[in-house]
Amino acid sequence: MTDGTNGAGSSLPYGDLDGARELLDGARELLDGARELLDGARELLEAERAEATAAISALTRDFDGIVDAACAVGTDDEHDPEGATIAFERAQVASLLERARGRLANVDLALARIEDGSYGSCQRCGQPITAERLTARPAASTCIRCAATARAPRA
Ligand SMILES: [Zn+2]
Repeated sequence: MTDGTNGAGSSLPYGDLDGARELLDGARELLDGARELLDGARELLEAERAEATAAISALTRDFDGIVDAACAVGTDDEHDPEGATIAFERAQVASLLERARGRLANVDLALARIEDGSYGSCQRCGQPITAERLTARPAASTCIRCAATARAPRA
């Protein structure tokens, strides 16, 4: 795209219509790219939303099923190994359910950020989040560096 004469704009050739046109084209390209990125992100987020919603209803069914099974067998005795298994299974499904709900909440937040125009900016440091990261994790609300900091064990 650049031809090597891109000198940080210190000596902008005034009156150079071609230069101005080039700048405009560049800006338009950037805008189109941003719009494309947003459209793509919205599509990915809608897909992820549908997936998370389906996972939540499936897990809710599983959870209810486990509870029903526990009631049917009447294993409320914690000394009963069967009861322990059911409690464990229930805890597992509950944590999956919690994760799916968290995912859905993140997706909804990301969709809201698309609406208010803050999508693609890190919610912690305000720097732009890379397109690669947004493609991989469309609901990401922080840049890769802040995400790494957040994941690091706290002192
Ligand atoms: Zn950041």
